[in-house]
Amino acid sequence: LRGAPRGLPPKRRIAHVDHVIAVSSAKGGVGKSTLAVNLALAFSRHNLRTGILDTDIFGPSVPTLLNLADASEPEVTNRGSLVPLQSYGLKSMSMGYLLPSEAAPVAWRGAMVQKALHQLLHEVDWSPKLDILVLDLPPGTGDVQLTIGQQVELSGAVIVSTPQDIALKDAVKGVGMFNQMKIPVLGLVQNMSVFVCPKCGEETRIFAHDHSGGEGKVQIQDMNIDLLGNIPLDPSICHDADAGKPTIVAEEASGMSVNTKYYESIA
Ligand code: ADP
Repeated sequence: LRGAPRGLPPKRRIAHVDHVIAVSSAKGGVGKSTLAVNLALAFSRHNLRTGILDTDIFGPSVPTLLNLADASEPEVTNRGSLVPLQSYGLKSMSMGYLLPSEAAPVAWRGAMVQKALHQLLHEVDWSPKLDILVLDLPPGTGDVQLTIGQQVELSGAVIVSTPQDIALKDAVKGVGMFNQMKIPVLGLVQNMSVFVCPKCGEETRIFAHDHSGGEGKVQIQDMNIDLLGNIPLDPSICHDADAGKPTIVAEEASGMSVNTKYYESIA
């Protein structure tokens, strides 16, 4: 990973996009996709033209989260680019829109994955122009993440983790990967940090560890990383996601703002 490996094309901008922010986690199930979608919605609610690109080829979540799992296939422009789908004020693209779930790739060879990834990264028509494109990366530090980091101009990366010790040790790998690829790590989001009892309001720290590295920082081994925010473990976040109505949209509809503030402050 030292320097750009020979033979690789130089980093490319994603056409018609000003800033690309990658949302990454060391492992699955920590709430990365939920955060990516709500973060994108928070940007769009600040009048930024926002899109979300789901780069998880084997396990795309964005179609379900945006209630587009049954949407018809994206149109193709006369120049051969995919037209993003729209919902809740967001433009989005995902492998899930291109292949029906029964045709989902299970054991694709590297070349096929790279071809699909290239299409998602460079053959989507985000025009007229997006201010921000949020990339929902697959979990871990594998081929897809490396390809994106080496080939796409990213403005920065956000790492999502639970405060659980083991998850934070994993988070180090993610931070290391972005550092090596000279991509700014914007900071860490601790998801599922506290559980707020819906009956009595008492806060319980599920993963009782103090990672404080000073105000607004989190200490991961010897790395001092900006803490962008904490999001509580709240069954309603899970319920909203399952219902295809991300929390920001669900709370807009109900007029009750409980968790939106956490996503907004991170954005
Ligand atoms: P990942 O993208 O890291 O695999 P997901 O975003 O798919 O994770 O989230 C995993 C599960 O956790 C989903 O069922 C989601 O609804 C739920 N979830 C995510 N964040 C929270 C939260 N803060 N509180 C409660 N449930 C959450």
